[in-house]
Amino acid sequence: MNADLHCHSYYSDGLLSPTDVMRRAHANGVELATLTDHDETAGVFEAHDTAIELGMRFVSGVEISVTWGEEAHTIHMVGLGMDIYNKALSDGLASVRSGRDRRAMLIGEELAKVGIEGAYEGAMRHARNPALVSRSHFARYIVETGRAKDVKSVFAQWLGYGKPGYIPHSWATLQQAVSWVTNAGGIAVVAHPGRYRLTPQEMTAFLDEFKSYGGRGIEVLSSSHRPEQVEIFADYARRMDLLASRASDFHAPGESWTDLGKLPDLSSDLKPVWKALI
Ligand code: AMP
Ligand code: MN
Ligand code: MN
Ligand code: MN
Repeated sequence: MNADLHCHSYYSDGLLSPTDVMRRAHANGVELATLTDHDETAGVFEAHDTAIELGMRFVSGVEISVTWGEEAHTIHMVGLGMDIYNKALSDGLASVRSGRDRRAMLIGEELAKVGIEGAYEGAMRHARNPALVSRSHFARYIVETGRAKDVKSVFAQWLGYGKPGYIPHSWATLQQAVSWVTNAGGIAVVAHPGRYRLTPQEMTAFLDEFKSYGGRGIEVLSSSHRPEQVEIFADYARRMDLLASRASDFHAPGESWTDLGKLPDLSSDLKPVWKALI
């Protein structure tokens, strides 16, 4: 089964419409698709209709921003197969979105201090959904001004953790994010675990806590993971009895590290999360 369970449209920080994301997934051989925009499910209806029309299977999706632990790590959690009409879920996502505009203004102020003027307005021009203005939109604006060759280098110089345009922010708690998804009948999955600044001890504590709230899955295959990280997180999945996911995290042609549906297969001894979804 070619399942790809993590990708974005222009309802968050992707560049394509939900329809075009699904067309691209289908053209790349995806058989089970979802759309996991950041803190937003508005694109899921359109993605669902296109996916079904094209003969793919589809599950609803979202990627929720979480702040976890004493050091306030930002962690992303994917929700799959939940009822997107669920009130606690949609109210919760609305509350997570509500902090983005103010944060974006602060990012704009910090970038101005290092000589990048007009960044808030510039990012807003790139954000089709202004409530979802994100660092990706700032990055695209900065590339447009000619200061960096690509989005990745903007994060390395200005927007990544500890860089001049990085503004600490409080997102949902882990318990909120997991319960919004599971109470709406979905499965909570830890997104790109290899991207976090967690020691192995902290990762284990994090996953224990995630499971204690009802979390069940982890992205083993992710475009953020180097081959050795795929092995590391396959081992976490085995040891901690977590369902394994396969996740391109596609945002835009040419911008993402891996295209839709193009990751390798999951190791056959892992339990694929899609068996619990369809
Ligand atoms: P935000 O939710 O506003 O903090 O933005 C987070 C988004 O920025 C992620 O979902 C990615 O799409 C993007 N991002 C984060 N780090 C990087 C990076 N190093 N290179 C490219 N994109 C990144
Ligand atoms: Mn993103
Ligand atoms: Mn993410
Ligand atoms: Mn993502």
